[in-house]
Amino acid sequence: MRTDFLPFSKPSITEEDIQAVAEVLRSGWITTGPKCAKLEDDFKRYTGAPEAVAMTSETAVMHTLFRALEIGPGDEIITPSMTWVSLPNTAQLFGAKVVFADVNKNTLMLEPEAIEGAITERTKMIVPVHFAGAPLDLDPIRAIAKKHNIFLVEDAAHALGTEYKGQKIGCSGTSMFSFHPIKNITTGEGGMFASDDPELAAKIRSLKFHGLGVDAYDRQTQGRAPQAQVIEPGYKFNLPDMQAVLGLGQLAKVDILNEKRRVLAMRYREKLAEINEILPLSDPPYPHKHSWHLFIVRVCSGKITRDEFMAELKKKNIGTGLHFRCTHLQKYYRETLGFKPGMFPNTEWNSDRICSIPLFPDMTEKDQDDVITAIKEVLA
Ligand SMILES: *Cc1c(COP(=O)(O)O)cnc(C)c1O
Repeated sequence: MRTDFLPFSKPSITEEDIQAVAEVLRSGWITTGPKCAKLEDDFKRYTGAPEAVAMTSETAVMHTLFRALEIGPGDEIITPSMTWVSLPNTAQLFGAKVVFADVNKNTLMLEPEAIEGAITERTKMIVPVHFAGAPLDLDPIRAIAKKHNIFLVEDAAHALGTEYKGQKIGCSGTSMFSFHPIKNITTGEGGMFASDDPELAAKIRSLKFHGLGVDAYDRQTQGRAPQAQVIEPGYKFNLPDMQAVLGLGQLAKVDILNEKRRVLAMRYREKLAEINEILPLSDPPYPHKHSWHLFIVRVCSGKITRDEFMAELKKKNIGTGLHFRCTHLQKYYRETLGFKPGMFPNTEWNSDRICSIPLFPDMTEKDQDDVITAIKEVLA
C-alpha cells in the first residue's frame, strides 16, 4: 500500500510560478493591473475568444451575467442537475426558476432534444455544461437557442483547451471558465468570461468593478479619470494581479499539461478495461479534442456502494472526488423547491455511482499503478 496520500487532483505549480507571484508582491502593484490585462489578452489568443474578462471565480462571472441580462423572477434557466451548484444557486439568488433537464447516461451532458424539451415561453437562458473535458454538441444546441431566441452560455469550467469540430471552446458564443485549483489551470481562485459580443463584454467589465466602467488600474495607469461615476451599481469581482500572474504561467503551458492528462487518461482506459465493475464515461460521437479535466468512473458493483468504494480507497491512501452529486436532490432543492427522486433517471443513476479517480499532470505512472492496484483490491 502507498505510504503517502495521493490526492485526486493537484495543481501543477513550478518554482517559476512561485517566483512570478513573489515578483508581483514586491512590485508595489498587487491588485488588478498589467498581469490581469495580459491574462485576458493571452486567454483571447489561446481560445480565439474576441472578448475576455477575468474575475475572482466563475461563480462571480455567473452573478455578473445574470445582472447584465437582467434575469429575475418569472425567468426560467435551463441547466443540468448534474453540475456544480454554482449556476442553480445563482438562479435562486436572482429569484429565477431553475429548470433541470436530464443528461446522456454515458457522457453526462445535455443533449439538444433534452434542452428543446425543457423550453417554455419563460426560458431566458440555457446553460449546458461541457463535462469532464469533453465538449457539448454545440451545433444543434446553438441552432435551438437561435430558433427560440434564447441566450446560450456554455459552462466551460472543465473545457480549457477542449475543441469541438476543430474549434476551441470559447472562440465563439459566450462561455464561462473557472481557474479553481482543481481545474486545468489555476489562479488560486478565478474565472473568465469569454464572448464574441463586445457590447455584453463591456457591460460585464463595468459590472465586475462597481459599475464604474473602469477599474483602479484603468484609472491610475491608463489615464482614465478618477472622477469616474457609477453607471449602474456593480460588484467587486476583479481578479488581482498576484493571482492573475499565476494564470499567465499556467496558460502558457496548458497544452503540455493537458497532454499529460490525456496520456494518463488513455492509460487508465486501457488498465480499467479488464475491471467489469468499473465503467468509465464514453467519448461523444462527434469530432472533438478532450482536455481530460476529470477521469470519472461509475462503480457498478453488486457488493460495494460508491460511497464505500471511496472510503475504502481513502484507507489505501487514494483520494477520490465526486463530480457531481446531482443538484435537484440536495436538501434545499428537495425541501424548498420540491424536486423528487425519479425526475431525472440518468442523472440520478450516475449521481449514485460516479467517482473521480486521481488525474493531474504531475501524477506518475507509479501513482497510477497504485490507483489501479487499490481499485482491484477494493473490488476483490
Ligand atoms: C468549478 C465549476 C464551477 C465554478 O467555478 P468557480 O470558479 O469555483 O466559481 C462551475 N461549474 C462547473 C461545472 C464547475 O466544475
